[in-house]
Amino acid sequence: MSIVAIVGRPNVGKSTLFNRLIQRREAIVDSVSGVTRDRHYGKSDWNGKEFTLIDTGGYVIGSDDEFEEEIDKQVELAIEEADVIIFMVDVETGITGMDEDVANLLRKAKKPVFLAVNKVDNSKRAGDAVEFYNLGLGEIYTIASTNGSGTGDLLDAVIEKI
Ligand code: GDP
Ligand code: MG
Repeated sequence: MSIVAIVGRPNVGKSTLFNRLIQRREAIVDSVSGVTRDRHYGKSDWNGKEFTLIDTGGYVIGSDDEFEEEIDKQVELAIEEADVIIFMVDVETGITGMDEDVANLLRKAKKPVFLAVNKVDNSKRAGDAVEFYNLGLGEIYTIASTNGSGTGDLLDAVIEKI
């Protein structure tokens, strides 16, 4: 079964989207050495096409450097493991340095990447979201994980690649 990973820095809404999309939650603590943060795996489907969804992230305590290193590790693991990557960013905060860092890693990946701009709850935020074209990852998908808005278009695009 194809694997779709959701990556991005903490608090952008990855787990909210994951929980909305999966049918049955299977929490798995990754056993890869050095990667101790939790990765949650779940099964999902869209238009009859099934896939495994991974929610990356977890508990990061430490300095900013450690923090960034951990996110990079999760992204690199996702690039290895996943067939398709959803890179989530947050329209509330706009582009951050960490987003640029992740975008640089993903631009080198030979996997399809979909840029999901989350927390687009109103039309003003839909306007603000265009800023994310500056990440250089192509099309943006504006979504609101809390109510599911925009997620259909995102999933339509994702399943075309799996
Ligand atoms: P994660 O750290 O990336 O997994 O982010 P979470 O899923 O834990 O969400 C972080 C915060 O953002 C929570 O307070 C969510 O309720 C909030 N959030 C997630 N999606 C949305 C959204 O579409 N709109 C708004 N306004 N808040 C959201
Ligand atoms: Mg989370």
